[in-house]
Amino acid sequence: MSVQDPRRRIPRTDRLLELPSVRAAAAAVGTRVVRDLARAVQDRARRGEIAPEQVEPQLVEALASRRPGSLRPVLNATGVIVHTNLGRAPLSAAARTALERASGYADVEFDLATGARSRRGAGARAALLAACPARLPSGEDLEALVVNNGAAALLLAATALAGGREVILSRGEMIEIGAGFRLAELIASAGASIREVGATNRTHREDYAAAIGPATGALLSVHPSNYRIRGFTAAVGIAELADLAHEHALPLVADLGSGLLVPEPSLPEEPDATGALEAGADVVITSGDKLLGGPQAGIILGRAPIIARLARHPMARAVRADKLALAALEATLTGPVPPVLAALRLDPEQLRGRTEALAQALRAEGIEAGVVPHDGRVGGGGGAEVPLPGWALRLPEAWAAPLREGDPAIVGTVRDGACLLDLRCVPEESDPLLLDALTAVRR
Ligand SMILES: *Cc1c(COP(=O)(O)O)cnc(C)c1O
Repeated sequence: MSVQDPRRRIPRTDRLLELPSVRAAAAAVGTRVVRDLARAVQDRARRGEIAPEQVEPQLVEALASRRPGSLRPVLNATGVIVHTNLGRAPLSAAARTALERASGYADVEFDLATGARSRRGAGARAALLAACPARLPSGEDLEALVVNNGAAALLLAATALAGGREVILSRGEMIEIGAGFRLAELIASAGASIREVGATNRTHREDYAAAIGPATGALLSVHPSNYRIRGFTAAVGIAELADLAHEHALPLVADLGSGLLVPEPSLPEEPDATGALEAGADVVITSGDKLLGGPQAGIILGRAPIIARLARHPMARAVRADKLALAALEATLTGPVPPVLAALRLDPEQLRGRTEALAQALRAEGIEAGVVPHDGRVGGGGGAEVPLPGWALRLPEAWAAPLREGDPAIVGTVRDGACLLDLRCVPEESDPLLLDALTAVRR
């Protein structure tokens, strides 16, 4: 390197990291990451891509634009409300605040009045019991337990109630919930074996009755949340299954998946925990981040003595909910209507108005934008095949990729040579943001 070589002017790493401008920008970034970024910028200067004088400002810029995690927020313009690939339920403002408050030290198992240890998740439990007004046919008290997710709830129930024995399940309910995840295999992994009964399309009470024997640990009813069996079909309802189970002193576990605690008028076919418990299910399992609209969680509701058995099982510790989930769940249950239910109940005319307004603003900018009818979907969380009438903004197909890669990322649907943006799951206050992003794509 000659004396005149500009590369001599590239600041050394240690010098760079001591600069006040770099230190200020690096306040929220770990030392290793700061060094990596510094090296990357220095390398660019060595290759002659930037001048040595550019190293400091470029490093400051790289540090300032760094985000603490790699997950990026997305505007969900697919119209699919519970979109598993996009993180399922968006949290309500109340739940976000509760998350923030619980994120430091918090009294999750501590009684501030007495200074003694207290029951973990007492607030979430109370909120669940208040939100599920079921009166049990047995006359016993209702009890609630929150675990990591729906699958964990099922695993715990199968292990504690039927470990080493059989769980009877209809062939029409042997569901795969996604990404190759099969409920029957999950239960088998708990050391219980699945006793399949009936046929794919039809299962009768006698099928269950004939399978019950000394090896039976529990009867299981699973709501087929992501498909429908139509045509020549028969299934046994919760009430009838509960009668049969109780004749043999066996528990009936009902996995509802969806998360509804009470009936939802806009989804009359969807089962709810209150209905299943009042029909006689001993244990009901639902997810926290589907139609309930909360954080990932597995919610177990049922007869107090059985829930106590699950809570005492050693596996309960391995699947317990963390303080953040407990905080967000409680806030979801006690707060205003969460975004999931708001999106579900949205008036199509309101959706049309917003979509038209956006299309008009775009056309004023010379962008070709149409408005077309578009059905939203409940998503993996329930309401299989229930269309939610609405509207979508129609843009050229080529817009889909830049929209996905923008900030915020906007994910729509590509169909019939067009990019469709359904505003159902886009918060109304984000409409100006969407308009900015769209006009930016054109540029
Ligand atoms: C979604 C679902 C599950 C799994 O729940 P997670 O919370 O995703 O673990 C189990 N059973 C049914 C019927 C479901 O729909």
